[in-house]
Amino acid sequence: MVDSTREREVVRSVPTGLFIGGEWQPAENGATFAVDDPSTGTKLADVADATPADGMRALDAAEKAQAGWAAVPPRERSDILRRAYDLLLERQEELALVMTLEMGKPLSEARGEVAYAAEFFRWFSEEAVRIDGGFAVAPNGQGRLLVMRQPVGPCVLITPWNFPIAMGTRKIGPAVAAGCTMIIKPAEQTPLSMLALAAIMKEAGLPDGVLNVVTTTDPAAVMEPIIRDGRARKLSFTGSTAVGRKLLEQCADQVMRTSLELGGNAPFVVFEDADLDVAVEGAMLAKMRNIGEACTAANRFYVHSSVADEFARRLAERMSALPIGRGVEDDVVVGPLIDAAARDKVSSLVADAVQRGAEVLTGGEALEGEGYFYPPTVLTGVPRDARMRHEEIFGPVAPIATFETEEEAITAANDTEYGLASYIFTRDLARALRVSERIETGMVGLNQGIVSNPAAPFGGMKHSGLGREGGRVGIEEFLEIKYVAVATT
Ligand code: NAD
Repeated sequence: MVDSTREREVVRSVPTGLFIGGEWQPAENGATFAVDDPSTGTKLADVADATPADGMRALDAAEKAQAGWAAVPPRERSDILRRAYDLLLERQEELALVMTLEMGKPLSEARGEVAYAAEFFRWFSEEAVRIDGGFAVAPNGQGRLLVMRQPVGPCVLITPWNFPIAMGTRKIGPAVAAGCTMIIKPAEQTPLSMLALAAIMKEAGLPDGVLNVVTTTDPAAVMEPIIRDGRARKLSFTGSTAVGRKLLEQCADQVMRTSLELGGNAPFVVFEDADLDVAVEGAMLAKMRNIGEACTAANRFYVHSSVADEFARRLAERMSALPIGRGVEDDVVVGPLIDAAARDKVSSLVADAVQRGAEVLTGGEALEGEGYFYPPTVLTGVPRDARMRHEEIFGPVAPIATFETEEEAITAANDTEYGLASYIFTRDLARALRVSERIETGMVGLNQGIVSNPAAPFGGMKHSGLGREGGRVGIEEFLEIKYVAVATT
């Protein structure tokens, strides 16, 4: 249990200004906005509320720093990331506490996120010195073909509230490694984690102007002029499909490079030959990690009819036993949802499913009292027309439906406009490969409930996005390819 004095001290240690050109500064009009603790609804801090003019100053700073930063040797860029990695781990406890207070997730998960976030810096510190090119003799022997990779230029990075640090380092890591400058805009619900991260980047030796942070309650007004200006050359966005689509349109004007990590609607498929212990364990991770507020969260469970009752009973037993409370309390596993709107959306999705015939095995009603709590919920017999089979739940609700044949399971799994993650549980290797090949998602968890790994390409198909983050391809998104035709006569 963290005492309230310690909570206040740690929050007070986080800078609350805009971070532009290496300096902390207020918004030009002095405006601020409140950041709240979703477990109590009380205010934690006031943070600078940027205007469009502040946003343009951040773009000016990123543009001014670009040429110098691109010329910094890769080994130096790598060393900065490595120092930032060490600092993140050194400050893991404080960063985790700030994250838990503003986002709600349990402290143990917040510590896990800090470690996961740091791994992107370690990975990309190793990639920074491996940016290479190509050389070839032209097929007709006349001339040589030289291919080089260069930083794409200033980047606009926009992140969501659900993984407030890791979604930042997954973008900042490759941008720094590639030699790009950046303007980053964290979600208005969770700016403190990003501001604390920016302070760490400065301490790690990142030159002024390479990383600029703009916090605002009016992202549309502040970000659109930056995107339309033309000096930024790349957008990397993680958030909802609706906002991603709008940003893609804005980027079209300047033909900006874009990476979009958008919403998901992950199917979790349990075949009759699955190890049920492994499947239930995987379901707990895929459903309950981050209180269900993950783009990769299992959103629809399809279980073979011969094992469905047993699977549902065991899952309900495990989920109903999870302790609910403030993330800073010992042993809590289920924290609050991010805000009242998120809790009300979960309630309305559950009410809709029940009204269409679903049965509640556990949970099913929002909790009364302060904070935005919704209990772990298991529903069976959720029909295809229930809204939650098509919309992201973003909460601790597991809707279960049954199937009879492999073909039926694949059709049901692909019955969505999204294509981010999926989970398959079977002991039959041939089936595992057959289904993995036909499932329309960018990532597949095979007999495991977690897919995220900094060394692997993270991203989605269909309306879940464009591009990949992490892995060997992660840095490519921040590099331009230039080919030089070399005369040899
Ligand atoms: P959101 O789209 O509302 O907001 C995401 C970010 O975009 C925030 O920083 C927000 O301030 C900003 N934003 C909102 N409107 C904007 C505009 N008009 N112009 C510029 N910026 C704007 O999403 P959210 O509710 O914060 O996050 C939840 C969503 O993110 C879910 O759909 C989830 O699936 C998705 N997500 C995806 C991934 C992934 O990697 N695919 C990871 C985490 C979350």
